[in-house]
Amino acid sequence: MAFFGAIADDFTGATDLAGLLARSGVPVSLRIGVPVAPPADTAPIEIIALKCRTTAVTEAVAETRAALIWLREAGAQRFFWKYCSTFDSTPQGNIGPVAEALMADLGATQTIYCPAFPENGRSIFMGNLFVGEQPLSESPMKDHPLTPMRDSNLMRLLAPQVTKPVGLANRHTVAKGALRQRLAELASAGVAHVVVDAVSNDDLHKIAEACQSMPLLTGGSAIAMPLPALWLAQGLVPKADDTALPHAEAGPAVVLSGSCSDMTNRQVAAFVSGHPSFRLDPVDLAQHGAGAALDWVARQDLGTTPIVYATAAPSAVKRAQSLLGGHEAGRLVEEALAACAVAARNRGARRFVVAGGETAGAVTQALDINRLNIGAEIAPGVPWCFATSAGHQVAITLKSGNFGQEGFFTEALRALP
Ligand code: ADP
Repeated sequence: MAFFGAIADDFTGATDLAGLLARSGVPVSLRIGVPVAPPADTAPIEIIALKCRTTAVTEAVAETRAALIWLREAGAQRFFWKYCSTFDSTPQGNIGPVAEALMADLGATQTIYCPAFPENGRSIFMGNLFVGEQPLSESPMKDHPLTPMRDSNLMRLLAPQVTKPVGLANRHTVAKGALRQRLAELASAGVAHVVVDAVSNDDLHKIAEACQSMPLLTGGSAIAMPLPALWLAQGLVPKADDTALPHAEAGPAVVLSGSCSDMTNRQVAAFVSGHPSFRLDPVDLAQHGAGAALDWVARQDLGTTPIVYATAAPSAVKRAQSLLGGHEAGRLVEEALAACAVAARNRGARRFVVAGGETAGAVTQALDINRLNIGAEIAPGVPWCFATSAGHQVAITLKSGNFGQEGFFTEALRALP
């Protein structure tokens, strides 16, 4: 029976959340997309990964509401709407509209917004989001191919996405343990959407304690991290059984990268120097299709861990987007990487390192993976996951753009030899 039901707006975000929640020792199960079948074989923590960060608002709302229905049927009593720690969204949504729809379905009059992830350098102060020492709008997120973030103020970003008032519970309130009172004050003033500051894990613990009974919380993965321990202490969720650890078949690995974040650019540069590599160019894909990439994969000795990547610097991304349109460029790349993943699996690859949220969605869908069991973290928010693909036990890690250090790809492969 599930107790905690989470819905994530992209796949790497879902595995990030799963990895952090699994630190508690409570079993975590991740479903890709809303399961068609009614809930069975559920874990105390159930996460549904969607790919709705940049889809049309009505579509995102319909999908998340369907996910909520499934999670409620699974028994969940507390709910979480997970989005990126850099608040990736468009002026229309989908963070705000989905939160309002879930609140309406759950009868919740207030929720919080806390994308802070201090271990990964995301902090919020006075409602402004920082990436390391840079305000969000001055960070490399300003050049994201799909959701360029050009403002750092979460209240200003959220207000146009929702119909009800937006407010702030600032760091001073959180640090002195007065969040609950502040939320009550804001509630009596009709404030439904409360951005909550956090700059450290200690802040996250205080927020989790104050908000653990709210029907719906929203945020990045880190704000959910302290919740399972609180529920374990109250006997609301059980610990995992160590004998049921997930596994993969031994086998070669392939790296697939469609993220264009600054960190992924560095990770790809570090990896291509020692491994066979194939660079995908969206303009070339538009003209000639993915045949050359697939031929290349077919010729590789998978024992050498080849990498296929579209990862490029912002100037190259802009050039491709101006020729093809942003959506089309992204689609071509995602389809090509997904096809390469299938080709590699058919040739025996059993470990997949995937960089990029949208990319991860395309790859897991193509590999026909619909459920992941969560293993150990490679880097904060990036666990190895175990799944079945075409009858094979495979391991897959889905890295969101900015996560991991420069040597991440090699570290991932070392962590699961
Ligand atoms: P991240 O986790 O860094 O946000 P995503 O995979 O979610 O990565 O998003 C990156 C998007 O950019 C994807 O849609 C991907 O297909 C697209 N993309 C990748 N490489 C290029 C490129 N060279 N030119 C244009 N778009 C690209």
